[in-house]
Amino acid sequence: MSGSLFIGKISGIKIFIHWTFIFLIGWILMENVRAGRNIFNFIYTLVFVLSIFICITLHELGHALTAKYFHYYTKDITLLPIGGMARMDEIPENPKHELLVALAGPAVNILISLLLYPLVYWFGNIPTFLTTLFDSGDTVLFSILTTNLILAFFNLIPAFPMDGGRALRAGLSFFTDRVKATTIAAKIGQAISILFFFTGFIFNPFLSVIGIFIFLMAQTESDYVQSKSLLHDYRVSDVVMKKYFSLHVSDTISDAVRLLLDVQATGFLIMENNNVVGTLDRDRIIHVLSEQGKDVPLILAMNTRLKFLSPEMSLDKIFSEFKSSENAILPVLQNNELIGVVDLNNILELILSRTAEKNFADHYQKFIKPKNVVSIK
Ligand SMILES: [Zn+2]
Repeated sequence: MSGSLFIGKISGIKIFIHWTFIFLIGWILMENVRAGRNIFNFIYTLVFVLSIFICITLHELGHALTAKYFHYYTKDITLLPIGGMARMDEIPENPKHELLVALAGPAVNILISLLLYPLVYWFGNIPTFLTTLFDSGDTVLFSILTTNLILAFFNLIPAFPMDGGRALRAGLSFFTDRVKATTIAAKIGQAISILFFFTGFIFNPFLSVIGIFIFLMAQTESDYVQSKSLLHDYRVSDVVMKKYFSLHVSDTISDAVRLLLDVQATGFLIMENNNVVGTLDRDRIIHVLSEQGKDVPLILAMNTRLKFLSPEMSLDKIFSEFKSSENAILPVLQNNELIGVVDLNNILELILSRTAEKNFADHYQKFIKPKNVVSIK
């Protein structure tokens, strides 16, 4: 993630801290000043917050290392003021793997709480267990223990994108296919999000915001899995476009704008010595034009994170590639020869037409087939 500071590497997984963390520390400082607390209070709060972020890192490492055990790789872990985020190469589709990877994170927080329990017990402060929270004169250890329990239970809420949502989908996948399991899990998640939304009006508006977020994320996950499953039977050769447009590295953004206005295509290949060296799409052209002007050479404006496709590649894998990279167009090579391009819009059109066909088929089964069945009888 851009604007993140590299802080270390554990078991081959890079860990970053996002720059917005400064706001969190600034906010803690301001809160302490505003409440008229002294420097020791500030240090106390800071130690607490940093400890929680170590716990969140351990939570994410719980996911990442369990995934690694099943041979799924995590690119990196980024710590944001709202929590941690592990970027995995792919989400495990085997239900047993997905279930264990999802539960490993909250399990780490429960383990931390269990390990802290005897310490908190020896230092006293146990009678108010779970009933009091941070800022009520508790010890740092006690606050860390309760926060870990809250983290574990919050993440176990059975709604996407929380771990509980993934665990629920994995659990359902033992009984039905992945698409159906995701649809059911997303519906349950959305029902919970509606509950969050309305309880937010009574208790805390923050709950309403979380509710909206969960509702949208559940829909995104459900749509994504459905689209991906529709693409499973298709290959790159089914959507490759033999006709494509290209620009040269020495061309400028104004050349790209001219081409954009001239042709229907919105994604272009950037060539040098007959080799593809980058791509450029409409959004990027407009972005560079507004930020840096029309004279910028394409060598500085193009997207260089390329992946070369081959005709036999399965489209569901390519779809995830488009989703995770910044490319809207990718070159297709056959025997090291450029034979065309695949455009994200093409894949989306294929999804739309397949969905329409499927809806028609479902409709046909529901309303027309039963009559036929009766007539056969
Ligand atoms: Zn998690």
